[in-house]
Amino acid sequence: MTDWQTEATRLDADDPLVKHRADFLLDDAVAYLDGNSLGALPKATPARIEEVVQSEWGADLISSWNTAGWIDLPQRIGAKIAPLVGARPHEVVVADSVSVNLFKLVSAALAMQKGRKVVLSEPGNFPTDLYMIEGLEGQGLAERRLAERGEMESALDEDVALLLLTHVHYKSGEMFDMARLTKAAHDAGALVLWDLSHSVGAVPVDLEGAGADFAVGCGYKYLNGGPGAPGFAYVAERHHARLEQPLSGWMGHAKPFEFSDDYEPAPGAGQLMCGTPPILSMSALEVGVDLMAGIGIEALVAKSRQLSEFTRAAMAETVPELPCISPDRPERRGSQLSFRHEHAYELCQALIARQVIGDFRAPDILRLGFAPAYVRFADCWRAVSELRDILDSGEWRKAEYAERAAVT
Ligand SMILES: *Cc1c(COP(=O)(O)O)cnc(C)c1O
Repeated sequence: MTDWQTEATRLDADDPLVKHRADFLLDDAVAYLDGNSLGALPKATPARIEEVVQSEWGADLISSWNTAGWIDLPQRIGAKIAPLVGARPHEVVVADSVSVNLFKLVSAALAMQKGRKVVLSEPGNFPTDLYMIEGLEGQGLAERRLAERGEMESALDEDVALLLLTHVHYKSGEMFDMARLTKAAHDAGALVLWDLSHSVGAVPVDLEGAGADFAVGCGYKYLNGGPGAPGFAYVAERHHARLEQPLSGWMGHAKPFEFSDDYEPAPGAGQLMCGTPPILSMSALEVGVDLMAGIGIEALVAKSRQLSEFTRAAMAETVPELPCISPDRPERRGSQLSFRHEHAYELCQALIARQVIGDFRAPDILRLGFAPAYVRFADCWRAVSELRDILDSGEWRKAEYAERAAVT
């Protein structure tokens, strides 16, 4: 048997990112393996929020739109996210939630594809992606078609306007080959929209290299923007001139402060803004993005793969009764591992009671996420060894662990 404890200690000692754990407000006793659902709090965030509230809003009042650069925040943060996803600065803007950005971009894609109405996705995609297509279907604008992964390319016929896929699957962690599917869609005359919610800040993404048309992504997972942080939207430059999205709010206007009666879209990705940006949330997101951009995506990806490989091997040897449903090869999966067990919910609750925080995805998945900026190898080993102990002792059978909370 491998001495995983010693191995974890050695890997932590050799880890070039180990110092970044101190950039986050994390209790030493907590093994936080859920940063793929809600990123941890950067230590600099409370002070930044305090400054925005007290000094910018409190003292400088409305002038802060200009003097503190509030008005530029959506583009400024977008430009900082761009290198994390292989985009150019003017192709990314921060606005609204992922769901709302999906609505805007699916609509825009459909408007560009006269005569085609089908939006192709996969069954089991993240619910909001599927629901947003349904909403447009209800308005008579879209037709939803779902195809299993193996059938995706053959489902791309002349009716498909848009292929909408989540790059890293939230449940299995399986990662699509972005370049291959983008090319297959283009060959069939379809556009492609990638949901990068489980990708940005943790896996390599090259939107430009893949020739992607559109993308959306989440601010509160690996970007550590805080609960409900705004999301981002990407539009390839070649589509900027033709882009037309239906939520034509005044902040997406070319000249909002001319107060014209008629809508004239801002050039480029700026058109994807709708209403007034939430400055407190944006300010928190900027701190998280600055941290990730400062570490750099190559270092984050390298550590992420090391963490998940370590955990996969330790689980396989130590807790073999929980099969891993994520792909074996690290370059085929996101920064997470998913394990199947009939009582995954109870196991997860028992882990949380021991300050090992993962999460549960219905009906039977225990999910461990590896936010590379702050997760330690020791945290990964703790999850594995505590799980072994919880199974051996039967502790997971406690009645309280079977009670389902509203959020799992
Ligand atoms: C987390 C997540 C979202 C979040 O959408 P919101 O509208 O911001 O709540 C969307 N899509 C995927 C794939 C996600 O993982």
